[in-house]
Amino acid sequence: MSAIEADKTVCEGIGMCEAQADTYFQIGDDGLVEVLSDEVPDPDRAYVKAAVDSCPVSALRLKE
Ligand code: SF4
Repeated sequence: MSAIEADKTVCEGIGMCEAQADTYFQIGDDGLVEVLSDEVPDPDRAYVKAAVDSCPVSALRLKE
């Protein structure tokens, strides 16, 4: 199991994360990322990691 951390002070609302993994990320009413589920089961890890890595401003982290 891994955990997602999102830094809203860095997020610019570009939406790459939502485009890649919309079951875990969405852009909220404030125009910034919302994490829909902080805990990532191992079978989803690679899918979520790709979304985390796609963030152009490095606002997302995936912790073991
Ligand atoms: S990809 Fe990064 S900057 Fe864009 S919405 Fe997601 S967290 Fe924010």
